[in-house]
Amino acid sequence: MLVYGKELREQMKARIKAQAEMLPMQMAILKIGDDKASQSYVNSLVNFGRDTGIPVEVIRLDEQCTQAEACRVIQELNSNPDITGIMIQKPLPPHIDDNRLMHTIDYNKDVEGLHYYNLGKLLTKAPGVRPSTPKAVMSMLAANGVEISGKKVTIVGRSIIVGHPLAAMMTAQDATVTLCHTRTRDLAAETRAADIIVAAVGQANLITAEMVSAGCVIMDAGINVDDSGAILGDVHPEAKGKASIASAVPGGIGMITVGELFDNLLTLKLQNV
Ligand code: NAP
Repeated sequence: MLVYGKELREQMKARIKAQAEMLPMQMAILKIGDDKASQSYVNSLVNFGRDTGIPVEVIRLDEQCTQAEACRVIQELNSNPDITGIMIQKPLPPHIDDNRLMHTIDYNKDVEGLHYYNLGKLLTKAPGVRPSTPKAVMSMLAANGVEISGKKVTIVGRSIIVGHPLAAMMTAQDATVTLCHTRTRDLAAETRAADIIVAAVGQANLITAEMVSAGCVIMDAGINVDDSGAILGDVHPEAKGKASIASAVPGGIGMITVGELFDNLLTLKLQNV
């Protein structure tokens, strides 16, 4: 059965809108350069903000801006009391040190949950913000009644924004986690052994039907655009056909991720009042 994120997103929107009426919040997004693909994500954040009554300010810097200029913008946002959450839109131009810019953000305004401080909270199970895509995967599983404790979970992809934090979140909920990557020797053996497979790779249809066991749960975080402009997941539709529950692409995890980012904005607000 394919599952979608729209209903969950609408529920999150209603909850966050109700809270935003009592708790003033504002998000700032720093976008450097003119990458077209990431513009649609920025638009979806602005639209979610509009629907929930939360102002979203997009600060655009030229592709040629210096590291110092970009850091100065972040520092100004850090000291602006109206701004309660800051995110940096990727990709960044190659001359910008991504990690240094990211860690210029005050961790109390780190809406993506990617600052060392907030990742440390994740590992130590302290309450706080969590990276939004793994959060969306956990919410999708919970919304569909999937038990995690004791399950064998195979995550394909170990990035700091998806796979790695998701492994920590699954472990915190008592799953037994295998984290796969390009050096994994036998990926098919790892995915076939899993009760729950999460794909976050960025390669269309990498996980095929032979690589999954009948009745497993599949969460597909992949977003791949083919030559015709169609959006494809990392998991082949035939593999999803063998699963008891599989998230759709498009319309699955990606639908919830934006909501989770605003949920983080709310968490930061409540933490910092
Ligand atoms: P990334 O930083 O490029 O990481 C990709 C990961 O996949 C790496 O760990 C890489 O292994 C692994 N990998 C690549 N090819 C592989 C293969 N053939 N077998 C096994 N592992 C392989 O990507 P990302 O930023 O995490 O994004 C992953 C996907 O999620 C993309 O499609 C992206 O668009 C999507 N995404 C979706 C959302 C959402 O809201 N739904 C949000 C963010 C990202 P190594 O570490 O060994 O290189």
